[in-house]
Amino acid sequence: MSIAAVSASNLRKVYPGSRGVQALAGVSTEIEAGRFVSILGPSGCGKSTFLRCVAGLEDITEGDLVVNGRPVQGPPDDIGMVFQRDALLEWRSIRKNILLPIEFAKKQASSYSGKVEHLLNLTGLRDFANSYPRELSGGMRQRAAICRALVDDPKLLLMDEPFGALDAFTRDQMNVELQRIWLETRNTVLFVTHGIGEAVFLGDVVMVFSPRPGRLVETITIDLPRPRPLSVRETPEFGRYVAHIRGLFEEMGLLNEKGAV
Ligand code: ADP
Ligand code: MG
Repeated sequence: MSIAAVSASNLRKVYPGSRGVQALAGVSTEIEAGRFVSILGPSGCGKSTFLRCVAGLEDITEGDLVVNGRPVQGPPDDIGMVFQRDALLEWRSIRKNILLPIEFAKKQASSYSGKVEHLLNLTGLRDFANSYPRELSGGMRQRAAICRALVDDPKLLLMDEPFGALDAFTRDQMNVELQRIWLETRNTVLFVTHGIGEAVFLGDVVMVFSPRPGRLVETITIDLPRPRPLSVRETPEFGRYVAHIRGLFEEMGLLNEKGAV
């Protein structure tokens, strides 16, 4: 039997402080290793909190959280993270940005040069290895951030609205590229978004969270063959998944007339 990549049982998170904000309540889930998991929910429902708990960046208030077979105690070393803002260091070249986790881990950068070349090729950044972040477009910067998160072969890749700041066209492109990269690497991915279409397009499963305190409303298995072309979004099967999820948000009283969460 394979070990679950993430196993949460009755997870609760309350931020201390005068207001004592309860961000997550009673979240239980088992995420199988090698899965691409989309996490969908309205703003402020605790999606980032969940990711930060998994990454060991937040203490949990109650419940159990086991990541890669070990209870979470501080940041484990086999996790990669990508955020909405790419957090590249402007004074370092793209190659040196990608090598940052290797330096942090006090590993030999030279033994990762092949890996870096491979990632640069995979993401179409080969000609920009020696460029600086300011010389790249938003989509290219985000690709560099993905390379950095992947450079040390993390078992678990945590992505918090990584394409939220990109225009719709670039975002579509990035969805296709991320799928392609993931089909090659097959690490477990937790991908936070508030785009229903993006969640369905990328996910093996979609976890839908309620408004704060975030509870897991439903986990939907997306049974669409891969690689998925963008045109899959026009198929009836895709439309049924989207309609089902939109229905969940409507039941929670959460959708505006444009269908946005
Ligand atoms: P999401 O990512 O789904 O938008 P977050 O996980 O960022 O939601 O936040 C969930 C709730 O927890 C929000 O009400 C937010 O204000 C609160 N929160 C997030 N981080 C902190 C913090 N460091 N201290 C206090 N409250 C926080
Ligand atoms: Mg967030």
